[in-house]
Amino acid sequence: MENIQKSFDVIVVGAGTGGTTAARFTAKNGLKVCLIDRKPRDKIGDKICGDAVGNEIFGLLNINHPKSEELSCHIKGAKLYSPNLKKCLTLIDPKQAGYIVNRLEFGQRLLNEAIDAGVKQFLDKTMALDLIYSNGTVSGLKVKLENGEKTELKSKLVIDASGFYSPIRKALKSSLIEKTILKEDSILCYREIIKFSPKDQTVQDPEYITIILDQEKAPGGYIWYFPKDESSVNIGLGTFMGYKGKVKDYYQRNAFKEFIKVSKFEIISSGGGVVPVRRPLWSCADDGIMLIGDSACQVNPLHGGGIDPSMRAGYYAANSALSAFEKNNFSINALWGYNHSVMTSFGAEFAALDLLRIVLQHLSNEELNFGLERDLLSGEDILEISSKGGLNLSVINMAIKAFKGISRPNLLLDMNYLRLRMNEISRLYKSFPENIAGFPEWKEKVVGIYDRIKKMIVNTKKRN
Ligand SMILES: Cc1cc2nc3c(=O)[nH]c(=O)nc-3n(C[C@H](O)[C@H](O)[C@H](O)COP(=O)(O)OP(=O)(O)OC[C@H]3O[C@@H](n4cnc5c(N)ncnc54)[C@H](O)[C@@H]3O)c2cc1C
Repeated sequence: MENIQKSFDVIVVGAGTGGTTAARFTAKNGLKVCLIDRKPRDKIGDKICGDAVGNEIFGLLNINHPKSEELSCHIKGAKLYSPNLKKCLTLIDPKQAGYIVNRLEFGQRLLNEAIDAGVKQFLDKTMALDLIYSNGTVSGLKVKLENGEKTELKSKLVIDASGFYSPIRKALKSSLIEKTILKEDSILCYREIIKFSPKDQTVQDPEYITIILDQEKAPGGYIWYFPKDESSVNIGLGTFMGYKGKVKDYYQRNAFKEFIKVSKFEIISSGGGVVPVRRPLWSCADDGIMLIGDSACQVNPLHGGGIDPSMRAGYYAANSALSAFEKNNFSINALWGYNHSVMTSFGAEFAALDLLRIVLQHLSNEELNFGLERDLLSGEDILEISSKGGLNLSVINMAIKAFKGISRPNLLLDMNYLRLRMNEISRLYKSFPENIAGFPEWKEKVVGIYDRIKKMIVNTKKRN
Protein backbone atom coordinates (compact mmCIF):
# COMPACT_ATOMS: atom_id res chain seq x y z
CA MET A 1 0.00 0.00 0.00
CA GLU A 2 3.00 2.35 -0.55
CA ASN A 3 1.48 4.37 -3.34
CA ILE A 4 -1.73 5.48 -1.70
CA GLN A 5 -2.36 9.22 -1.58
CA LYS A 6 -2.57 10.72 1.90
CA SER A 7 -3.73 14.30 1.50
CA PHE A 8 -7.22 15.35 0.39
CA ASP A 9 -9.76 18.14 0.47
CA VAL A 10 -12.41 15.79 1.87
CA ILE A 11 -12.32 12.30 3.40
CA VAL A 12 -15.66 10.47 3.50
CA VAL A 13 -15.89 7.59 5.98
CA GLY A 14 -18.37 4.88 4.95
CA ALA A 15 -19.60 4.04 1.47
CA GLY A 16 -23.25 3.44 2.37
CA THR A 17 -26.10 5.43 0.85
CA GLY A 18 -25.08 8.62 2.69
CA GLY A 19 -21.32 8.40 2.13
CA THR A 20 -21.49 7.58 -1.58
CA THR A 21 -23.85 10.54 -2.12
CA ALA A 22 -21.58 12.94 -0.23
CA ALA A 23 -18.50 11.62 -2.09
CA ARG A 24 -20.23 11.85 -5.46
CA PHE A 25 -21.34 15.48 -5.11
CA THR A 26 -18.12 16.77 -3.55
CA ALA A 27 -16.04 15.03 -6.24
CA LYS A 28 -18.35 16.14 -9.06
CA ASN A 29 -17.72 19.74 -8.04
CA GLY A 30 -13.98 19.41 -8.25
CA LEU A 31 -12.89 18.63 -4.68
CA LYS A 32 -10.19 16.03 -4.11
CA VAL A 33 -12.05 13.26 -2.33
CA CYS A 34 -11.02 10.03 -0.60
CA LEU A 35 -13.79 7.53 0.22
CA ILE A 36 -13.05 4.68 2.62
CA ASP A 37 -15.03 1.67 3.83
CA ARG A 38 -14.13 -1.26 6.03
CA LYS A 39 -15.98 -3.68 3.73
CA PRO A 40 -14.50 -5.24 0.59
CA ARG A 41 -15.61 -3.43 -2.56
CA ASP A 42 -17.92 -6.20 -3.77
CA LYS A 43 -19.85 -6.13 -0.46
CA ILE A 44 -20.56 -2.38 -0.44
CA GLY A 45 -24.33 -1.94 -0.18
CA ASP A 46 -24.91 -5.31 1.42
CA LYS A 47 -26.90 -4.28 4.50
CA ILE A 48 -29.65 -5.79 6.63
CA CYS A 49 -32.50 -3.52 5.62
CA GLY A 50 -36.18 -3.37 4.63
CA ASP A 51 -34.92 -2.14 1.22
CA ALA A 52 -37.75 0.40 0.74
CA VAL A 53 -36.85 3.77 -0.77
CA GLY A 54 -39.13 6.50 -2.08
CA ASN A 55 -38.83 7.91 -5.58
CA GLU A 56 -38.56 11.57 -4.55
CA ILE A 57 -34.85 11.45 -3.69
CA PHE A 58 -33.83 10.41 -7.22
CA GLY A 59 -35.53 13.45 -8.76
CA LEU A 60 -34.17 15.74 -6.06
CA LEU A 61 -30.58 14.62 -6.69
CA ASN A 62 -31.15 14.22 -10.43
CA ILE A 63 -29.77 10.68 -10.42
CA ASN A 64 -31.08 7.52 -12.09
CA HIS A 65 -34.01 5.74 -10.49
CA PRO A 66 -33.44 2.06 -9.57
CA LYS A 67 -33.94 -0.25 -12.54
CA SER A 68 -33.01 -3.70 -13.89
CA GLU A 69 -31.44 -6.05 -11.33
CA GLU A 70 -31.26 -3.20 -8.79
CA LEU A 71 -35.05 -3.03 -8.60
CA SER A 72 -37.14 -5.72 -6.86
CA CYS A 73 -40.57 -4.10 -7.20
CA HIS A 74 -42.54 -0.86 -7.16
CA ILE A 75 -44.59 0.13 -4.12
CA LYS A 76 -47.42 2.64 -3.83
CA GLY A 77 -47.13 3.29 -0.11
CA ALA A 78 -47.43 1.84 3.38
CA LYS A 79 -50.32 0.26 5.25
CA LEU A 80 -50.13 0.78 8.99
CA TYR A 81 -52.26 -1.60 11.07
CA SER A 82 -53.55 -1.32 14.63
CA PRO A 83 -52.62 -4.24 16.96
CA ASN A 84 -56.04 -5.91 16.51
CA LEU A 85 -55.67 -5.43 12.71
CA LYS A 86 -59.11 -3.78 12.58
CA LYS A 87 -57.81 -0.39 11.50
CA CYS A 88 -55.49 0.18 8.57
CA LEU A 89 -54.05 3.59 7.69
CA THR A 90 -52.84 3.90 4.11
CA LEU A 91 -49.86 6.23 3.87
CA ILE A 92 -48.66 7.38 0.45
CA ASP A 93 -45.47 9.24 1.31
CA PRO A 94 -43.23 10.16 -1.67
CA LYS A 95 -40.17 9.88 0.54
CA GLN A 96 -40.97 6.24 1.23
CA ALA A 97 -43.25 5.08 -1.63
CA GLY A 98 -41.43 4.08 -4.75
CA TYR A 99 -39.19 1.07 -4.77
CA ILE A 100 -38.04 -2.04 -3.02
CA VAL A 101 -34.42 -2.37 -4.10
CA ASN A 102 -31.87 -5.14 -4.11
CA ARG A 103 -29.64 -3.50 -1.56
CA LEU A 104 -26.30 -4.88 -2.78
CA GLU A 105 -26.88 -3.95 -6.44
CA PHE A 106 -28.24 -0.55 -5.40
CA GLY A 107 -25.21 0.11 -3.18
CA GLN A 108 -22.80 -1.04 -5.91
CA ARG A 109 -24.39 1.37 -8.38
CA LEU A 110 -24.14 4.31 -5.94
CA LEU A 111 -20.48 3.45 -5.31
CA ASN A 112 -19.63 3.17 -9.02
CA GLU A 113 -21.37 6.45 -9.77
CA ALA A 114 -19.44 8.21 -6.98
CA ILE A 115 -16.16 6.88 -8.38
CA ASP A 116 -17.18 7.91 -11.91
CA ALA A 117 -18.00 11.39 -10.59
CA GLY A 118 -14.31 11.82 -9.76
CA VAL A 119 -13.53 10.33 -6.31
CA LYS A 120 -9.71 10.34 -6.38
CA GLN A 121 -9.15 7.36 -4.10
CA PHE A 122 -11.46 4.64 -2.87
CA LEU A 123 -9.95 2.46 -0.17
CA ASP A 124 -11.96 -0.64 0.66
CA LYS A 125 -11.15 -2.98 3.58
CA THR A 126 -9.95 0.17 5.34
CA MET A 127 -11.07 0.89 8.87
CA ALA A 128 -11.35 4.40 10.31
CA LEU A 129 -9.88 4.24 13.81
CA ASP A 130 -9.72 7.76 15.16
CA LEU A 131 -9.78 11.44 14.28
CA ILE A 132 -6.73 13.66 13.99
CA TYR A 133 -7.04 17.17 15.41
CA SER A 134 -4.88 20.24 14.68
CA ASN A 135 -5.51 23.39 16.72
CA GLY A 136 -8.85 22.02 17.91
CA THR A 137 -10.10 21.31 14.38
CA VAL A 138 -10.53 17.90 12.74
CA SER A 139 -7.74 17.59 10.17
CA GLY A 140 -7.79 13.94 9.15
CA LEU A 141 -8.11 10.33 10.17
CA LYS A 142 -6.14 7.46 11.60
CA VAL A 143 -6.93 4.36 9.56
CA LYS A 144 -6.01 0.70 9.34
CA LEU A 145 -5.39 -0.31 5.72
CA GLU A 146 -6.19 -3.61 4.04
CA ASN A 147 -2.68 -4.95 4.76
CA GLY A 148 -3.00 -4.18 8.49
CA GLU A 149 -0.77 -1.11 8.32
CA LYS A 150 -1.90 1.87 10.38
CA THR A 151 -1.51 5.28 8.79
CA GLU A 152 -2.80 8.85 8.76
CA LEU A 153 -4.85 10.52 6.02
CA LYS A 154 -5.04 14.32 6.07
CA SER A 155 -7.91 16.53 4.88
CA LYS A 156 -9.53 19.93 5.33
CA LEU A 157 -12.86 18.22 6.00
CA VAL A 158 -14.04 14.81 7.21
CA ILE A 159 -17.56 13.64 6.41
CA ASP A 160 -18.60 10.80 8.68
CA ALA A 161 -21.12 8.38 7.16
CA SER A 162 -20.05 5.29 9.07
CA GLY A 163 -23.51 4.38 10.39
CA PHE A 164 -25.10 3.80 13.77
CA TYR A 165 -21.96 2.54 15.53
CA SER A 166 -19.79 5.35 14.17
CA PRO A 167 -16.33 5.27 15.80
CA ILE A 168 -15.89 8.84 14.54
CA ARG A 169 -18.79 10.23 16.58
CA LYS A 170 -17.32 8.54 19.65
CA ALA A 171 -13.90 10.05 18.97
CA LEU A 172 -15.19 13.62 18.66
CA LYS A 173 -13.99 16.34 21.00
CA SER A 174 -17.12 18.41 20.73
CA SER A 175 -19.41 20.29 23.08
CA LEU A 176 -22.07 20.50 20.36
CA ILE A 177 -22.45 16.86 19.32
CA GLU A 178 -23.63 14.05 21.57
CA LYS A 179 -21.38 10.98 21.38
CA THR A 180 -23.79 8.33 22.58
CA ILE A 181 -27.27 7.45 21.43
CA LEU A 182 -29.56 6.38 24.26
CA LYS A 183 -30.90 2.83 24.20
CA GLU A 184 -34.46 4.12 24.41
CA ASP A 185 -33.84 6.08 21.19
CA SER A 186 -32.78 2.98 19.25
CA ILE A 187 -34.64 0.00 17.85
CA LEU A 188 -33.15 -3.45 17.50
CA CYS A 189 -34.34 -5.33 14.39
CA TYR A 190 -34.17 -8.81 12.95
CA ARG A 191 -35.26 -9.61 9.42
CA GLU A 192 -35.24 -12.35 6.78
CA ILE A 193 -35.77 -12.37 3.03
CA ILE A 194 -37.81 -15.47 2.30
CA LYS A 195 -38.42 -17.09 -1.06
CA PHE A 196 -41.25 -19.54 -1.70
CA SER A 197 -43.01 -20.98 -4.70
CA PRO A 198 -45.78 -18.66 -5.95
CA LYS A 199 -47.83 -21.83 -6.46
CA ASP A 200 -47.78 -22.50 -2.68
CA GLN A 201 -48.20 -18.96 -1.34
CA THR A 202 -48.87 -15.59 -2.92
CA VAL A 203 -47.35 -12.33 -1.73
CA GLN A 204 -50.01 -10.40 0.17
CA ASP A 205 -50.70 -6.78 -0.80
CA PRO A 206 -47.80 -6.71 -3.29
CA GLU A 207 -48.02 -2.95 -3.93
CA TYR A 208 -47.76 -1.87 -0.30
CA ILE A 209 -45.36 -2.30 2.57
CA THR A 210 -47.24 -3.55 5.63
CA ILE A 211 -46.46 -2.31 9.14
CA ILE A 212 -48.19 -3.64 12.27
CA LEU A 213 -47.98 -1.82 15.58
CA ASP A 214 -48.20 -4.23 18.51
CA GLN A 215 -46.78 -3.51 21.95
CA GLU A 216 -46.94 -7.16 23.00
CA LYS A 217 -45.58 -8.79 19.85
CA ALA A 218 -43.01 -6.08 19.05
CA PRO A 219 -42.58 -3.91 22.19
CA GLY A 220 -41.64 -0.34 21.27
CA GLY A 221 -41.28 -1.18 17.59
CA TYR A 222 -43.31 -2.89 14.90
CA ILE A 223 -43.64 -5.93 12.66
CA TRP A 224 -43.11 -5.47 8.94
CA TYR A 225 -43.95 -7.41 5.80
CA PHE A 226 -42.51 -5.93 2.61
CA PRO A 227 -43.07 -7.47 -0.85
CA LYS A 228 -39.95 -8.15 -2.88
CA ASP A 229 -41.11 -9.96 -5.99
CA GLU A 230 -43.81 -12.47 -6.88
CA SER A 231 -42.11 -15.19 -4.85
CA SER A 232 -40.19 -13.46 -2.07
CA VAL A 233 -40.79 -11.12 0.86
CA ASN A 234 -38.76 -9.17 3.39
CA ILE A 235 -40.21 -9.81 6.87
CA GLY A 236 -38.90 -8.31 10.08
CA LEU A 237 -39.53 -7.10 13.57
CA GLY A 238 -38.07 -4.28 15.67
CA THR A 239 -38.18 -3.86 19.46
CA PHE A 240 -36.70 -1.70 22.20
CA MET A 241 -32.97 -2.40 22.68
CA GLY A 242 -33.69 -4.03 26.07
CA TYR A 243 -34.93 -7.16 24.26
CA LYS A 244 -31.47 -8.10 22.98
CA GLY A 245 -31.21 -11.87 22.64
CA LYS A 246 -34.96 -12.20 22.35
CA VAL A 247 -35.62 -10.25 19.18
CA LYS A 248 -35.10 -13.31 16.97
CA ASP A 249 -37.61 -15.27 19.12
CA TYR A 250 -40.11 -12.45 18.80
CA TYR A 251 -39.50 -12.50 15.05
CA GLN A 252 -39.98 -16.27 14.76
CA ARG A 253 -43.16 -16.25 16.77
CA ASN A 254 -44.80 -12.99 15.74
CA ALA A 255 -43.61 -12.33 12.20
CA PHE A 256 -42.37 -15.51 10.51
CA LYS A 257 -45.11 -17.85 11.80
CA GLU A 258 -47.81 -15.24 11.14
CA PHE A 259 -46.84 -14.71 7.53
CA ILE A 260 -45.13 -17.83 6.18
CA LYS A 261 -47.67 -20.59 5.77
CA VAL A 262 -45.69 -23.01 3.60
CA SER A 263 -43.28 -25.73 4.63
CA LYS A 264 -41.06 -25.29 1.57
CA PHE A 265 -39.17 -22.01 1.52
CA GLU A 266 -35.65 -20.67 1.23
CA ILE A 267 -34.11 -18.03 3.50
CA ILE A 268 -32.15 -15.82 1.08
CA SER A 269 -30.74 -13.49 3.72
CA SER A 270 -31.09 -13.04 7.48
CA GLY A 271 -29.66 -10.86 10.20
CA GLY A 272 -30.10 -8.06 12.67
CA GLY A 273 -29.35 -4.37 12.90
CA VAL A 274 -30.01 -1.26 14.95
CA VAL A 275 -31.81 1.90 13.83
CA PRO A 276 -31.66 5.23 15.66
CA VAL A 277 -35.23 6.53 15.97
CA ARG A 278 -34.83 10.03 17.39
CA ARG A 279 -34.48 13.51 15.99
CA PRO A 280 -31.07 14.31 14.37
CA LEU A 281 -28.08 15.03 16.64
CA TRP A 282 -28.18 18.49 18.27
CA SER A 283 -25.52 19.55 15.81
CA CYS A 284 -24.49 17.43 12.82
CA ALA A 285 -21.24 19.39 12.37
CA ASP A 286 -18.30 20.90 14.22
CA ASP A 287 -14.93 22.36 13.26
CA GLY A 288 -13.67 20.38 10.25
CA ILE A 289 -16.35 17.69 10.34
CA MET A 290 -19.92 16.89 9.25
CA LEU A 291 -21.88 13.75 10.16
CA ILE A 292 -24.54 12.29 7.90
CA GLY A 293 -27.04 9.41 7.87
CA ASP A 294 -27.33 6.95 10.75
CA SER A 295 -24.21 8.36 12.37
CA ALA A 296 -26.12 11.65 12.81
CA CYS A 297 -29.45 9.96 13.74
CA GLN A 298 -31.05 11.14 10.50
CA VAL A 299 -33.66 8.39 10.32
CA ASN A 300 -37.46 8.76 10.24
CA PRO A 301 -38.37 8.05 13.90
CA LEU A 302 -41.75 6.59 13.01
CA HIS A 303 -40.85 3.94 10.44
CA GLY A 304 -37.04 3.81 10.59
CA GLY A 305 -36.54 4.79 6.93
CA GLY A 306 -33.03 6.20 6.61
CA ILE A 307 -31.97 5.75 2.98
CA ASP A 308 -33.65 8.92 1.69
CA PRO A 309 -32.48 11.21 4.54
CA SER A 310 -28.92 9.83 4.42
CA MET A 311 -28.76 10.70 0.70
CA ARG A 312 -30.34 14.14 1.29
CA ALA A 313 -27.82 14.80 4.05
CA GLY A 314 -24.96 13.63 1.79
CA TYR A 315 -26.07 16.18 -0.78
CA TYR A 316 -26.46 18.99 1.79
CA ALA A 317 -23.04 18.18 3.27
CA ALA A 318 -21.45 18.28 -0.20
CA ASN A 319 -22.96 21.74 -0.81
CA SER A 320 -21.68 22.99 2.54
CA ALA A 321 -18.24 21.52 1.81
CA LEU A 322 -18.11 23.47 -1.46
CA SER A 323 -19.07 26.72 0.19
CA ALA A 324 -16.48 26.11 2.96
CA PHE A 325 -13.80 25.67 0.28
CA GLU A 326 -14.93 28.85 -1.47
CA LYS A 327 -14.48 30.73 1.81
CA ASN A 328 -11.40 28.70 2.78
CA ASN A 329 -13.01 28.38 6.20
CA PHE A 330 -13.75 24.96 7.73
CA SER A 331 -14.92 26.08 11.15
CA ILE A 332 -18.33 25.27 12.57
CA ASN A 333 -19.41 28.81 11.63
CA ALA A 334 -18.67 28.06 7.99
CA LEU A 335 -20.36 24.63 8.17
CA TRP A 336 -23.43 25.83 10.07
CA GLY A 337 -25.36 25.97 6.79
CA TYR A 338 -25.31 22.15 6.75
CA ASN A 339 -27.06 22.05 10.14
CA HIS A 340 -29.51 24.66 8.89
CA SER A 341 -30.38 22.61 5.78
CA VAL A 342 -30.92 19.43 7.83
CA MET A 343 -32.94 20.99 10.66
CA THR A 344 -35.22 23.14 8.49
CA SER A 345 -36.03 20.28 6.09
CA PHE A 346 -36.39 16.68 7.26
CA GLY A 347 -35.15 17.63 10.75
CA ALA A 348 -38.43 19.50 11.39
CA GLU A 349 -40.45 16.48 10.28
CA PHE A 350 -38.32 14.04 12.30
CA ALA A 351 -38.48 16.13 15.49
CA ALA A 352 -42.30 16.15 15.29
CA LEU A 353 -42.38 12.42 14.53
CA ASP A 354 -39.94 11.78 17.40
CA LEU A 355 -42.49 13.19 19.85
CA LEU A 356 -45.16 11.00 18.28
CA ARG A 357 -42.85 7.96 18.48
CA ILE A 358 -42.15 8.54 22.19
CA VAL A 359 -45.87 8.81 22.98
CA LEU A 360 -46.82 5.78 20.83
CA GLN A 361 -44.17 3.67 22.58
CA HIS A 362 -45.90 4.37 25.89
CA LEU A 363 -49.40 3.42 24.75
CA SER A 364 -50.89 -0.01 25.41
CA ASN A 365 -52.36 -2.15 22.63
CA GLU A 366 -55.81 -1.22 23.89
CA GLU A 367 -55.01 2.49 23.62
CA LEU A 368 -53.42 2.03 20.19
CA ASN A 369 -56.50 0.18 18.95
CA PHE A 370 -58.80 2.83 20.35
CA GLY A 371 -56.74 5.80 19.14
CA LEU A 372 -56.28 4.48 15.61
CA GLU A 373 -59.87 3.29 15.23
CA ARG A 374 -61.20 6.70 16.37
CA ASP A 375 -58.79 8.61 14.11
CA LEU A 376 -57.26 10.43 17.09
CA LEU A 377 -54.27 10.54 14.79
CA SER A 378 -55.11 9.63 11.23
CA GLY A 379 -53.08 8.71 8.15
CA GLU A 380 -53.76 12.22 6.79
CA ASP A 381 -52.36 13.76 9.97
CA ILE A 382 -49.18 11.71 9.71
CA LEU A 383 -48.76 12.59 6.03
CA GLU A 384 -49.42 16.25 6.73
CA ILE A 385 -46.59 16.18 9.26
CA SER A 386 -44.38 14.41 6.72
CA SER A 387 -45.08 16.81 3.87
CA LYS A 388 -45.41 20.09 5.78
CA GLY A 389 -43.60 19.30 9.03
CA GLY A 390 -46.71 20.13 11.07
CA LEU A 391 -50.46 19.78 11.44
CA ASN A 392 -52.96 22.36 10.35
CA LEU A 393 -56.21 20.95 11.64
CA SER A 394 -59.40 22.89 11.13
CA VAL A 395 -61.61 23.54 14.16
CA ILE A 396 -64.34 21.37 12.64
CA ASN A 397 -61.96 18.48 12.15
CA MET A 398 -60.85 18.76 15.78
CA ALA A 399 -64.46 18.88 16.97
CA ILE A 400 -65.30 15.71 15.05
CA LYS A 401 -62.31 14.00 16.55
CA ALA A 402 -63.23 15.22 20.03
CA PHE A 403 -66.74 13.86 19.59
CA LYS A 404 -65.46 10.51 18.36
CA GLY A 405 -63.03 10.18 21.25
CA ILE A 406 -65.32 11.28 24.05
CA SER A 407 -65.34 7.89 25.79
CA ARG A 408 -61.56 8.20 26.43
CA PRO A 409 -61.16 11.87 27.35
CA ASN A 410 -57.65 11.50 28.79
CA LEU A 411 -56.27 9.84 25.70
CA LEU A 412 -57.97 12.49 23.57
CA LEU A 413 -56.50 15.31 25.66
CA ASP A 414 -53.05 13.70 25.50
CA MET A 415 -53.26 13.34 21.72
CA ASN A 416 -54.36 16.95 21.34
CA TYR A 417 -51.53 18.09 23.61
CA LEU A 418 -49.15 15.99 21.50
CA ARG A 419 -50.44 17.61 18.28
CA LEU A 420 -49.78 21.07 19.68
CA ARG A 421 -46.26 20.14 20.75
CA MET A 422 -45.57 18.51 17.37
CA ASN A 423 -46.58 21.73 15.63
CA GLU A 424 -44.52 23.77 18.05
CA ILE A 425 -41.36 21.72 17.61
CA SER A 426 -41.74 21.63 13.85
CA ARG A 427 -42.05 25.45 13.75
CA LEU A 428 -39.00 25.71 15.99
CA TYR A 429 -36.93 23.47 13.72
CA LYS A 430 -38.05 25.44 10.67
CA SER A 431 -36.74 28.57 12.30
CA PHE A 432 -33.41 26.94 13.23
CA PRO A 433 -30.88 29.75 13.87
CA GLU A 434 -28.93 30.83 10.82
CA ASN A 435 -25.77 31.11 12.87
CA ILE A 436 -24.42 29.43 15.95
CA ALA A 437 -25.05 32.43 18.21
CA GLY A 438 -28.76 31.64 18.35
CA PHE A 439 -28.25 27.93 19.03
CA PRO A 440 -28.25 27.81 22.90
CA GLU A 441 -31.58 29.65 23.12
CA TRP A 442 -33.09 27.46 20.38
CA LYS A 443 -31.86 24.28 22.08
CA GLU A 444 -33.36 25.33 25.40
CA LYS A 445 -36.76 25.73 23.74
CA VAL A 446 -36.54 22.26 22.16
CA VAL A 447 -35.52 20.71 25.50
CA GLY A 448 -38.57 22.44 27.04
CA ILE A 449 -40.91 20.72 24.57
CA TYR A 450 -39.39 17.28 25.25
CA ASP A 451 -39.71 17.92 29.01
CA ARG A 452 -43.39 18.75 28.63
CA ILE A 453 -44.06 15.59 26.62
CA LYS A 454 -42.21 13.46 29.17
CA LYS A 455 -44.23 15.10 31.97
CA MET A 456 -47.43 14.34 30.09
CA ILE A 457 -46.42 10.66 29.84
CA VAL A 458 -45.63 10.50 33.58
CA ASN A 459 -48.98 12.10 34.45
CA THR A 460 -50.82 9.70 32.16
CA LYS A 461 -49.12 6.72 33.82
CA LYS A 462 -50.10 8.04 37.26
CA ARG A 463 -53.73 8.45 36.12
CA ASN A 464 -53.82 4.91 34.76
C1 LIG B 1 -33.36 -4.00 9.83
C2 LIG B 1 -33.35 -2.65 9.19
C3 LIG B 1 -34.32 -2.34 8.24
C4 LIG B 1 -34.30 -1.09 7.61
N1 LIG B 1 -35.22 -0.84 6.63
C5 LIG B 1 -35.16 0.34 5.95
C6 LIG B 1 -36.02 0.58 4.84
O1 LIG B 1 -36.82 -0.27 4.42
N2 LIG B 1 -35.93 1.77 4.21
C7 LIG B 1 -35.04 2.74 4.60
O2 LIG B 1 -35.03 3.82 4.00
N3 LIG B 1 -34.20 2.52 5.63
C8 LIG B 1 -34.22 1.35 6.30
N4 LIG B 1 -33.33 1.12 7.31
C9 LIG B 1 -32.37 2.17 7.69
C10 LIG B 1 -31.29 2.33 6.62
O3 LIG B 1 -30.74 1.08 6.31
C11 LIG B 1 -30.20 3.28 7.10
O4 LIG B 1 -30.79 4.40 7.70
C12 LIG B 1 -29.32 3.75 5.96
O5 LIG B 1 -28.70 2.66 5.36
C13 LIG B 1 -28.26 4.73 6.49
O6 LIG B 1 -27.25 4.88 5.59
P1 LIG B 1 -25.80 5.36 6.06
O7 LIG B 1 -25.07 5.68 4.80
O8 LIG B 1 -25.92 6.39 7.10
O9 LIG B 1 -25.15 4.12 6.81
P2 LIG B 1 -24.88 2.65 6.33
O10 LIG B 1 -25.68 2.28 5.14
O11 LIG B 1 -24.98 1.81 7.56
O12 LIG B 1 -23.36 2.68 5.83
C14 LIG B 1 -22.29 2.81 6.73
C15 LIG B 1 -21.03 2.34 6.02
O13 LIG B 1 -19.92 2.66 6.86
C16 LIG B 1 -19.01 1.58 6.87
N5 LIG B 1 -18.25 1.65 8.13
C17 LIG B 1 -18.71 1.47 9.39
N6 LIG B 1 -17.73 1.63 10.28
C18 LIG B 1 -16.60 1.93 9.57
C19 LIG B 1 -15.26 2.20 9.94
N7 LIG B 1 -14.85 2.22 11.21
N8 LIG B 1 -14.36 2.46 8.94
C20 LIG B 1 -14.75 2.45 7.62
N9 LIG B 1 -16.01 2.18 7.24
C21 LIG B 1 -16.94 1.95 8.20
C22 LIG B 1 -19.91 0.34 6.76
O14 LIG B 1 -19.19 -0.76 6.26
C23 LIG B 1 -20.99 0.83 5.80
O15 LIG B 1 -20.69 0.55 4.47
C24 LIG B 1 -33.31 -0.12 7.97
C25 LIG B 1 -32.34 -0.44 8.92
C26 LIG B 1 -32.35 -1.69 9.53
C27 LIG B 1 -31.28 -2.01 10.55
